Amino acid sequence: MTYDAVIIGAGLGGLECAYILAKHGMNVCVLEQGTQMGGCLQSFKRRGIHFDAGFHYVGGLDEGRPLNRLFDYFGLLDLPWQKMDEQCFDEVVIGHEHYRFAQGHEAWQAALAEQFPDQKNNLKKYDEAQANVGAHLFDALGSRTADDFYNNKAFTTPAYQVLAGTIGDERLRNVISGTSLKMELRPESLPFYVFAQINNSFIEGAYRLAGGGETLTNRMCENLRKMGVTLVTKAQVTQLEGEAGKISAALCSNGERYEGRIFISNAHPATTLSLVSEAVGLRKPYKKRIDRMENTYGMFTANIAIKPETLPYQNKNLYLYEEGADIWNISSPECPKGLLVSYGCTTPDQKYASSIDLLCPMQMEELSEWKDTQIGHRGSDYEAFKAAKTEQCLRIAEKQIPGLREATDRIYTSTPLTYRDYTGTRDGSAYGLRKDANNTLLTFLPPKTPVENLLLTGQNLNLHGILGVSMTSFVTCSALIGMEAATDGLKTK
Ligand SMILES: Cc1cc2nc3c(=O)[nH]c(=O)nc-3n(C[C@H](O)[C@H](O)[C@H](O)COP(=O)(O)OP(=O)(O)OC[C@H]3O[C@@H](n4cnc5c(N)ncnc54)[C@H](O)[C@@H]3O)c2cc1C
Repeated sequence: MTYDAVIIGAGLGGLECAYILAKHGMNVCVLEQGTQMGGCLQSFKRRGIHFDAGFHYVGGLDEGRPLNRLFDYFGLLDLPWQKMDEQCFDEVVIGHEHYRFAQGHEAWQAALAEQFPDQKNNLKKYDEAQANVGAHLFDALGSRTADDFYNNKAFTTPAYQVLAGTIGDERLRNVISGTSLKMELRPESLPFYVFAQINNSFIEGAYRLAGGGETLTNRMCENLRKMGVTLVTKAQVTQLEGEAGKISAALCSNGERYEGRIFISNAHPATTLSLVSEAVGLRKPYKKRIDRMENTYGMFTANIAIKPETLPYQNKNLYLYEEGADIWNISSPECPKGLLVSYGCTTPDQKYASSIDLLCPMQMEELSEWKDTQIGHRGSDYEAFKAAKTEQCLRIAEKQIPGLREATDRIYTSTPLTYRDYTGTRDGSAYGLRKDANNTLLTFLPPKTPVENLLLTGQNLNLHGILGVSMTSFVTCSALIGMEAATDGLKTK
């Protein structure tokens, strides 16, 4: 059988494209190399406790806000979403000082203005700028073509430039940037678009999901099956076969051959292009350019199982920094300079913590001696390296969570190598290709490729995270069926 669309990879981007195209009446098949669907949204269960690989909270889920409308479209709104603490969903700790991020624009400004009263007007100005970028998302999706999408100067302006030009107090600049371990801060290049779109979304509704990423993936798969989409796991695409500028079939590790009219890849773009067979005649300079693109850093994660009823559950994240930390240059290989602490959410109205995740940036260079190894076979040195990193993270975290060490039952760890091996992301990168405000043309990839019937989707294209990937799914599908058809049923106004 020949599918209308074959999708390579069942991360959120792949599943969402399948949904949009199936809704449009197309016959779709999704091929996933792993044993689980979801990519970075995968979770794992150990002795009854669920841990998330790359999903902690989402932003923009309040009524009428971008993610709310996107999830309404995908049938994900009635999942057990838990609104995070409205007065403090993120707490930034620098040295001994604590700063709270409140939900809602006025509350966000007021909370920070309490500690930086002379910056009140600047905070308002800055918040308006980030809210404008947030609003751009739906202006773009509501427009008729995807070309309007990049027509915004927030893409070409470095975030740090906007921040420094608006906020006079250096400490406040660091505080505002302090929740940004969910992206890679680089003062010279990170576009304001990425910084503002992500940070703004959390002010407009920060939520956890009981059961984590798996809850979302399971619902997406359930919806897709109802729509007649074919979902295949343990199907690593090893070659995209075809000729004369077109792909005709995906060959898989399961020995099957999936024929299609259109192919959409949710895998890393460089990985995708490496699969295209010679006979297709992919332009070499394009392939080389994509191959040379830089990736954002990876993350080290310590997933901690907490002994029952020992620590209260906290409905907020903590972002912890030493006094004097250079928040815009955090990814050094030394002791973590920034740490994200996130509580696992298992049930609505949870009283006690069941798991706590500690996350810090990690560069692949730190792992070079194990780069040629496979999961479960990296040796005792690697285990010792991870144990030492975990100890550093625990030391930082226990200063803010007294009793954490005593309450710890067991710890599971992962590094960028784990992400590389599970999701095929280049360099174990957490947030995909690095975007550069000074070079948007070459770092924001469009979904179309020089191969006529091969498109790209997912976090590598324009924006990472649940919100960014969801928006990108519409941009990808619009390149195929037009923006109006792709967003049919999506409330853009
Ligand atoms: C540690 C961490 C924490 C995060 N926390 C958050 C958070 O709290 N909130 C948030 O909004 N975002 C968060 N993110 C980002 C978010 O998880 C990602 O941006 C998003 O899930 C990426 O989705 P994707 O569809 O682009 O790609 P992926 O999830 O990477 O999916 C790609 C899929 O393609 C498959 N694949 C690759 N090659 C092949 C092949 N050859 N054949 C078949 N299948 C293939 C992979 O196995 C994978 O399933 C986090 C990310 C990380 C790493």
